[in-house]
Parts: sequence; structure tokens; C-alpha cells
Amino acid sequence: MVATHKPEHEIVNCDLVDDKLKNEINTELEKSGRHNFDWAADENELALVNGQDNKANNDNKKPMFLFGFRDLVWTNIVWLTILHVIFVWAFIYTLLEPIKFFTVVWGGLLSVGTALGLSVGNHRLWAHRTFQAKPLLRFFLLCLQTATMNGSVISFARDHRNHHKWSGTHADPKNPDRGFFYAHIGWWLLRKRPEVIEYGKKIPIDDMLEEKMLVFQHRYYLPLMFLSAFIIPVGVPILIWNEHPFISLGSSVIRILLVLHHFFAINSFAHFYGHHPYNRYQKPTENQIINWISMGEGHHNYHHTFPFDYCNSEFYWWEKYSPASLFIEVCILLRLASKPKKPSKALIRKVGEAKGKPEYFAMIDKRSLPKRIAIGLFDWLAGMFVTQWPLWIGLVFKVIDGRPTIVF
Ligand SMILES: [Zn+2]
Ligand SMILES: [Zn+2]
Repeated sequence: MVATHKPEHEIVNCDLVDDKLKNEINTELEKSGRHNFDWAADENELALVNGQDNKANNDNKKPMFLFGFRDLVWTNIVWLTILHVIFVWAFIYTLLEPIKFFTVVWGGLLSVGTALGLSVGNHRLWAHRTFQAKPLLRFFLLCLQTATMNGSVISFARDHRNHHKWSGTHADPKNPDRGFFYAHIGWWLLRKRPEVIEYGKKIPIDDMLEEKMLVFQHRYYLPLMFLSAFIIPVGVPILIWNEHPFISLGSSVIRILLVLHHFFAINSFAHFYGHHPYNRYQKPTENQIINWISMGEGHHNYHHTFPFDYCNSEFYWWEKYSPASLFIEVCILLRLASKPKKPSKALIRKVGEAKGKPEYFAMIDKRSLPKRIAIGLFDWLAGMFVTQWPLWIGLVFKVIDGRPTIVF
């Protein structure tokens, strides 16, 4: 039997949301096509935020390139442009020049670690409170999250709660209705709409303000980010195994941008491409490739339906590629994490059959245990291969071109 931690609660509410959720979940289903249960806005709130008239709704659907000059945030545009230029240069440079074995290992460890900082820390722990964590684990995840350049936990989690509650409205900071590019990274280049700020203030963040280390990170974010994302990761290879400074800087920029783009793809690709088995009325999708490159965050149709699930998926870690879920399970075994939340299978089926695609559940419920394990094994192998795609490009190029692949 495959060992899987049994959640303490079968059907639970997120601590930060309406306590009546458990009883009202089915009523909510009937009432609205939007099922962001933990942050769900009701029909009146949605009408308010979208504007009562059609003009406002149409305005909301304008593509992102319809913006005013004053909406541009030039510091972010310049900073991200510089990083992307370095990225392209560094990628070519590392293909042509020898890169030391330990620099590749260092980059790989930091990629996995910082991605877990985003998935387990930023998203599942702080934005959604899907489990509880001891201070040691919270500190570890916070250090990794700081090294991702994805903003402070408090600002990310507030915006993310906004994204769930006001999904696809004026108040959604990453509104996919403003276009693919806007949902991916365009939101970072433009000022927030007034609705995002106004409704963002109504999102509860008291739980985060009570955590001193989150407040400290928020207050000193820029120096902490530069220290953990650039100075330490670039300095270690130069000082310890004598890596060329250009290679060390370049590989750090590659790592930061790849991890960010892999996670930004959840807001873009996983809101545009994929299927909707859990709720066919909402935009977020189940996307296999995004799941492979984001540590198991690609079950986005499920996630917008059950945001409080610590697996971010109906499936446990052994059934689908999800290093983030496995990491949480290990932390539970080590007593660093506790109280993981997960809806019961009966509730998932009830919701899916009412609003999703019943034929999907008829298919997956037929799977025997050996078949589920085999699917999980294949998915893990595929995920570990796909998520390292830049490494394979470099390796194949160097082998074809006759360049050394491992240099000590
Ligand atoms: Zn989303
Ligand atoms: Zn989320």
C-alpha cells in the first residue's frame, strides 16, 4: 500500500474565509458559475465590481495593449528588460563556454528550492493556508521565497487572494480577460487598476500581519531579495569553486527568470489552455505541461474550485507529479507541518458532477490501484524530464558541437 498522510479533516474550511462554507458549498454551486469557494464573491458583489452596465463589462475585456501611457511602470519595464537581455546573452554564453559541474548542481538545487518556496510557501501555505507549519519550516520557505524575486509574501498572497475572489473581473490583479500577455507578465508592467486596489483592501490579511517574519520581509524586501537572489547565489560559485563571474551571474539570472516564467505560466497558459473537469463555467484549466514545470501547480481548474486543498489537486503526490505535495508530506512526517486540508472525495464528485464533466470522473474512478501507481510513476518521470528542459538543450548542443559537457 502506498503511504500517504491522511488529512486530519476531510471537509474543511480555509481558516480565513466564511465559516459557513461547508454548509453553503452546494448552495453556492447553484447560485453562480464562479466557484472560488473560499474567496467566493456573491452575485451582488460581482455586479458591483464589474460595474452594473454592459459598457463596464466590455471595458474589462479590452486587451491589455489598450492602456494609457501613464499606466506604464517604467522601473519594472526597464528592470525586466535588462534581466531578459542578460538571460538571452547568458543562455548563449553558457552554451558556448565551459560551465562547471558544481555551478550546474548549484543552479539545479536553487531552482528546485526556490520553486518550492513559491509553490509550498507562497501559494499553499501563506496565500491559502492549506496546512500549518512550524516556525523553522516557515523561515526556510521564506528564505527560498525571497530568492525568487516574486515580491514579498504579503503582497503576493494579498494579490493572489484577490485573484481567487474576483477571478476574471476588474478587481483581479492578473485578470486573464485582459489577454494572455497581461495575465502572464503584463500585470507587472502596468499600474494596478483602481478596482484592484479598492477590493484588495477588503481582502483579509490579518493572519500574515501577525507573522513577524513576514512583516520583516515585507519591510526590507529589496535588500533581502538582492542578497538572497543575486549576491549569495552569484558569489558562492565564484568564491568556492572559482567559477567565471559572467557564468555565475548569467546562470543566476537564467534560474530566476525560468522559475518565474514557469509559475507565471499558471496565470497565462493554465487560464487559457486545458480542460475543465471540475467546473466547466470557470476559465482556469487542468494543464499537464504547466503541472510538470511548476512543481505540481497545474491542476488549476481543481484549484480554483477547491483552493484549500494542500495537494493543489484531487490527486495525492504518488498519483501525479507534484514535488510540492511530496515536500509537504515529508514535512508532516518530520512534524514540521500539520493539519493538511482536503475536501472529501464525495464532495469533489458532487461538485464535479453538478458543474464539471461527469464523464471525466467515470473514467478516473475506474482505475485500479496498480494502474494509479503506474500512472503516477510515469507522470513523475515525465515531470522530472520536462521541467529540466533547458539542461537538455544545453547538453544536446554541447554533445553535437563536440564541446566538453562536464568541467570541474
Ligand atoms: Zn488562477
Ligand atoms: Zn491559488
